[in-house]
Amino acid sequence: MCGIVGYTGYRPAAPIVVEGLKKLEYRGYDSFGVAAKNNDMSIDCYKRQGRISEAEKAASMLKGTMGIGHTRWATHGVPNDVNAHPHYDCRKRIAVVHNGIIENYAELKRGLVSRGHSFSSDTDTEVIAHLLEEVYTGDLFKAMKAILPKLSGSYALLVMAEGDDRIIAARESSPLVLGFGDGEMFAASDMTPLLDHTERMMFLEDGDIAVLSPDNARVFSGDTEVTRKVELIDWSVGDAKRGGFKHFMLKEIYEQPHVFSDTIRSVETVPDGLARCKGAMVVACGTSYHAGMVFKYLLEEACHIPVRLELGSEFKYFTPPVTELVIGITQSGETADTLAALKKAKAHNCPTLAITNVLGSTVTRIADETLYMRAGPEISVAATKSFIAELAVLMQCVNHLSGGKFSEEIFRANRAVEEVLLLDLSTAVQTCNGADHIFFVGRGPFYAVALEGALKMKEISYIHAEGYAAGEIKHGPFALLSPKTPVVAICMPGSTYGVMVSNIKEMKARGTPVVVIGAGGDDELAAIADVYIGLPKGGLMEEVLMTTVVLQLLAYRTADSLGRDIDKPRNLAKSVTVE
Ligand code: GLU
Repeated sequence: MCGIVGYTGYRPAAPIVVEGLKKLEYRGYDSFGVAAKNNDMSIDCYKRQGRISEAEKAASMLKGTMGIGHTRWATHGVPNDVNAHPHYDCRKRIAVVHNGIIENYAELKRGLVSRGHSFSSDTDTEVIAHLLEEVYTGDLFKAMKAILPKLSGSYALLVMAEGDDRIIAARESSPLVLGFGDGEMFAASDMTPLLDHTERMMFLEDGDIAVLSPDNARVFSGDTEVTRKVELIDWSVGDAKRGGFKHFMLKEIYEQPHVFSDTIRSVETVPDGLARCKGAMVVACGTSYHAGMVFKYLLEEACHIPVRLELGSEFKYFTPPVTELVIGITQSGETADTLAALKKAKAHNCPTLAITNVLGSTVTRIADETLYMRAGPEISVAATKSFIAELAVLMQCVNHLSGGKFSEEIFRANRAVEEVLLLDLSTAVQTCNGADHIFFVGRGPFYAVALEGALKMKEISYIHAEGYAAGEIKHGPFALLSPKTPVVAICMPGSTYGVMVSNIKEMKARGTPVVVIGAGGDDELAAIADVYIGLPKGGLMEEVLMTTVVLQLLAYRTADSLGRDIDKPRNLAKSVTVE
């Protein structure tokens, strides 16, 4: 959610910071701002509500070789020009950008106001600038060290001040990455803005304060200077660009065959905690929760290991009795609810395993063990390739735990996905794009796929869509079925085929158009369906992958036909770093 970028070096800072902020747009934001300065000279700032593209030129005009910038996703104070970051102290000598929430800001603000400070914004962030003002005498690092213990909540901070030629960075429960150039130093909320400039990156840890100069970064934890590893990141800039595709989402859907293969190959063994476990609990949110649900069905069926599922946001507050392995799935590694759930699991002495796409992200430091997906940067807000990569990790784990039963299938699965990319979905799109509501139904692992398909549809097309276990439709939603409420049903061969066919007939009898996804060549089923999407033959895992991709494409094409802002759907943020 939201983002920050910093630069200090020999080039004009503002254009670099603005470019960096544009790379972070995918995280979602409502306003943005940049501040720049040349060593001891005064700080200039440009900030406003709205999209960066509307004011890019003005923002890039600021002079100076040191700068900080911010894309805001408002938590305290409405989105407007004044509440946009950077925020200043009373004398405008100190500029602060902040991702996160200062939970005790009201109390701090009361104290500051009583001591004569005047505030210009309604944000929680502004207290930081005023607190610094009270202790700053020319050494910004010292001032930061003095005020940070007063803050409770979460922050990634970049701060500049007149009279100090360094940027000071700090993090607590909000991501912050440093990038090392030659005579240049970068900072950002994630790696995407840094890929243009360097491969050498350092992931700060909670409690770290970093002092940034063009030639080096020194990191402190409390009073001690600490060494954090500089990682070599081999993500290419191209991975974060749109290529020839109309949208990032489409590009990312097309990347899935190789993302799946890369990830399968990278998971060579199962971590100890999982290999030993007699049961597991998955904690996750949104799309990752659906991946956990697929895992539950597959692992229980193949290995008879029971898996429970909990939403991260629920687990933290309503922790069930838990002793088993707790698996946290978060593609960004920063999802606040999942992190909180894992911390809670640790407090209960449970072994923990993280599954994430981001090296060095917070979840990797909380969990005992980590498995990485190989999705590369995902720019579109709606998750696609990161979901497939989560499935790849989880399917490979099931495969290893079952003694390699699925090896053949998962190593050829990328080809099945490739075939699905070529399907013509135009009649299915026509059925969906005039609808007010759509139900997605399936059974077993395809219930999880249906949930994910409905989530994709509502996220990017803004059509109300619900995923349901097919058997549940009769217990209520039946009342809503009508010619304007199509159903998308997944009906693959297997144990639930017969009952799914009955369900489809029952729904059709209510006048509902039914789009059926089934096996290619199943003419009887195709004859019942209003629209039939036939898939190549495959094993259960391949079917899960193929049906997922069909539903991603259906959501994408439907949203595109409606002219939606597909990569940046309204009100949504990519990485949900607040509860
Ligand atoms: N809490 C701060 C605000 O509302 C920062 C929000 C953000 O992370 O963008 O301004």
